Amino acid sequence: MGNMKDGDVYVCGGCGLEVTVSKACDEEQCDLVCCGQQLKKK
Ligand SMILES: [Zn+2]
Repeated sequence: MGNMKDGDVYVCGGCGLEVTVSKACDEEQCDLVCCGQQLKKK
């Protein structure tokens, strides 16, 4: 995923879930998964 920033919004393409990042992950790879797939940055 990478380049996550505070305030970013991620969306699930399966169910429409939206997640707002209140504190970003500073790792190179961070997985946010819903419905068996990675959330996409909005
Ligand atoms: Zn979902």
